[in-house]
Amino acid sequence: MNSVFADLPTTIFEVMSSLAREKQAINLGQGFPDDPGPEDVRRKAAEAALDGYNQYPPSMGLPELRGAIADHYKRFQNVDLDAGSEVMVTSGATEALAGAIFGVIEPGDEVVLFQPAYDAYLPLVRRAGGIAKFVTLKPPHWTFSEADLDAVFTPRTRAVIFNNPLNPCGTVYPREQVELLARYCARSGAIAICDEVWEHVIFDGREHVSMLNIPSMRERTIKIGSAGKIFSLTGWKVGLVAAAPDILRVIAKSHQFLTFTTPPNLQTAVAYGLAKDGAYFKTMRAAFQRSRDRFCAGLASIGFSVIPSDATYFVNVDISPLGETDDTAFCKRLVENFGVAAIPVSAFYAEDHVRTVVRFCFAKQDATLDAALGRLKQAARHAL
Ligand code: PMP
Ligand code: GLN
Repeated sequence: MNSVFADLPTTIFEVMSSLAREKQAINLGQGFPDDPGPEDVRRKAAEAALDGYNQYPPSMGLPELRGAIADHYKRFQNVDLDAGSEVMVTSGATEALAGAIFGVIEPGDEVVLFQPAYDAYLPLVRRAGGIAKFVTLKPPHWTFSEADLDAVFTPRTRAVIFNNPLNPCGTVYPREQVELLARYCARSGAIAICDEVWEHVIFDGREHVSMLNIPSMRERTIKIGSAGKIFSLTGWKVGLVAAAPDILRVIAKSHQFLTFTTPPNLQTAVAYGLAKDGAYFKTMRAAFQRSRDRFCAGLASIGFSVIPSDATYFVNVDISPLGETDDTAFCKRLVENFGVAAIPVSAFYAEDHVRTVVRFCFAKQDATLDAALGRLKQAARHAL
């Protein structure tokens, strides 16, 4: 069997969600909202399944969706994309990541990763034969410096995988940080594979700066997005890739043998959704921001040390002030004894693990968050 996958554990998301089901716990682990999502977008998908075409769509995506993606990024990020040669639809950001990594990496190439790293990156890089070089990010700011980049970029660096906003940390990297990374990419001729799935789930008036927006990186950036995050419909698995034609052409070859295409009714609905006016996106952000604030205030009031979150569905706590040294053991006891599932952030480190940070998903109804806080209060009171 292939050694990358044979030795791989089951993803922490699946592990914690199964435990949550088994223990009937409140699941604040895997990131998904517990409301049904925008009704008009879901209705479009239902109508398109009933009345529309349900056979294979083009491998690059429905033209209406590719056009809607180009229009959307012109409107929100002031990026000019040619829908016919620079945009492709994928089955989720996960497939886009696989397509990009398999399309770019040759065995022996070095790939810079930031850890904590979303858990799909490393196995895909390894399967492609890439050699991972890690920049280690630490709480509470999760930032990186020139010295950090000096330590990992070499003339053999073929690509960097950059997740901004960053899951699991909830960090939004400002323009200066994106530009700093861009300078290192230019120096080593590296391609930036930019996982920007959280681009719209961003708070406190912060701005998302896409790597595509950095002029020196326009021709060497692969931008990856996810309709699942844009519309709070995580099960839809409609993703996208935007990149210069020479790069996209190769990723498209990889994509044609991963999934080839994506359900047409979902593509139609996402095309409709991307054209929604700015008010939709503002309201969505405000609702998640409100949930974040409610949950963080609750966590702080029961004695958890909250690490600020500027984006995503997630907030982290530092459990070391509770005398805890092992986030995995903590999360196991939390779900088994107190009925709340969370994610140990050490699962996203490959080396030099930070072991005292726990991630909670706050994208839930008030009643769910309040019930979880009640249980967390018990947990904080007892020695876990
Ligand atoms: N990248 C990051 C950083 C994510 O958080 C997620 C999902 N939460 C994905 C990729 C996968 O997105 P999708 O469900 O569209 O495959
Ligand atoms: N991205 C989601 C999270 O961070 C999980 C996705 C998955 O379960 N594969 O929680």
